[in-house]
Amino acid sequence: MRIFEVHKKSGVSDSHIAIKFKGRVYTYGEVDALIDKYASYFQSIGVKKGDRVALSFPNCPEYIFSFMGASKAGAIVVPLNMMLTLEEIGYIIMESGTSVLVVHPAIAQKVDKSQLARLNLKNVVIMDENTVNEILKMKSPAPVDIESGEVCAFLYTSGTTGKPKGAMLTHDNFVSDVKMLYDVSRVIDLGPNDNFLTVLPLFHSFSWTVNVLLGLYLGSTITLKETFMPKDTLETLIQEDITVFCGVPSMFAVLMRMAEKGQFKALRLAISGGAPLAAEVQRGFEEKFNFPLVEGYGLSEAAPVALLNPLDPKALRKPGSIGFPLPGVEAKIVDENDNELPVGEIGELVLKGPNVMVGYHNMPEETAKTLRNGWLHTGDLAKKDEDGYFYIVDRLKDMIITGGFNVYPREIEEVLLTHPAVLEAAVVGVGDPLKGEEIKAFIVLKEGAEADRRELQSFLKDKIASYKIPKYFEFVKELPKTPTGKVNKKLLKQM
Ligand code: AMP
Repeated sequence: MRIFEVHKKSGVSDSHIAIKFKGRVYTYGEVDALIDKYASYFQSIGVKKGDRVALSFPNCPEYIFSFMGASKAGAIVVPLNMMLTLEEIGYIIMESGTSVLVVHPAIAQKVDKSQLARLNLKNVVIMDENTVNEILKMKSPAPVDIESGEVCAFLYTSGTTGKPKGAMLTHDNFVSDVKMLYDVSRVIDLGPNDNFLTVLPLFHSFSWTVNVLLGLYLGSTITLKETFMPKDTLETLIQEDITVFCGVPSMFAVLMRMAEKGQFKALRLAISGGAPLAAEVQRGFEEKFNFPLVEGYGLSEAAPVALLNPLDPKALRKPGSIGFPLPGVEAKIVDENDNELPVGEIGELVLKGPNVMVGYHNMPEETAKTLRNGWLHTGDLAKKDEDGYFYIVDRLKDMIITGGFNVYPREIEEVLLTHPAVLEAAVVGVGDPLKGEEIKAFIVLKEGAEADRRELQSFLKDKIASYKIPKYFEFVKELPKTPTGKVNKKLLKQM
């Protein structure tokens, strides 16, 4: 099965509602027809098999149709985080070899057209009313021979190298993840009567796979929102017949505080992922609302879900645990030499399964390192207990998760170092009750040079996305170093 076919699997009637967005409604029959029209449109502007089509959108149905349509035309889709700066987008476009950029009008408005011209694209499509009207007139696309084992998306995730890497994922990677999630969902019989509230950004694989692909595969309804706004989300959860809600931990902490007992009448499943869910939030949420808040774990390189706690309300969800590998995924804990460690010992979590990427685009060395010995090395430190539950305890990779967004310190440090007053920079995550972590930068200034927090924040502003800009700055005389000369980030975090 290819990803643009998942909506056909459940066999719901053409009139069943697939997507709701701002008063608009799309049925399963309409979604099927629109995927064809979008595919046909991409062909009409010259998109051929293997071409890269990048998408920069806030959440909206056109994102879903563009993704599905472009992949039906044989393109490889490159989803872009809409908060990236033009400089960051430029790098991804160049690295991925993107020829067509599709942008939502709200985003197009904010960018300088002459700068867009410099990105060396064959085509920039602004998905405004005119374009949508043109698409609606399209007929069936010309058939393209696409195998399910072929790559359908490059998901860019930053890395320790400071530059984003494109995880290459196939149709099979996504569809197998969906099928494994479907298998574990049998116990609560998710299906056409379910309604997934989708506030997580669609450009991230958590939302794309769990809300969109799984939702369509089940024949459920996807209630799409542009973003998470606590009051609006709460009202939607209470007033509409939402049954499933996926979020990042900070959202559950907020909802738990705002919602009253018994307010969620239809809601029957909440899934948390992307960052550690605090045990007290997990426990408190379930006690207050009396339905499962299930923590899962995934990463872009695994399309993304790899482990999940049981969905059965009667089963044991151990707070702080990410649960078990999905059926079909193998997971183990290894030491630096890739030897498996016994129960209770902490090591790197490695994974194997049909959802694991084929590699990073154009990065054979990074690919070989990450996929060594046939296992995906996650860069997360974990342990397993005697009942087989896994726990993430720390990260090997230098990464901060703030409000669900992954931030790689190296990327920020490299930009800070280009400031004329900065001699050394080290960026770490510091605990924050709401966002999980906030970003803090330690700065050593050059002798005689001057710069304060404001100056450095504004320097970073047009160079990196706003969620990556450190909230806190501390100016120090020197940075603590390890015996091998590396900045001792453990010590910095404690400072
Ligand atoms: P991404 O590739 O953006 O999906 O980020 C994946 C990373 O998010 C993982 O490698 C983990 O470091 C982190 N992550 C995802 N889920 C969890 C979780 N439940 N607990 C702790 N960290 C998580």
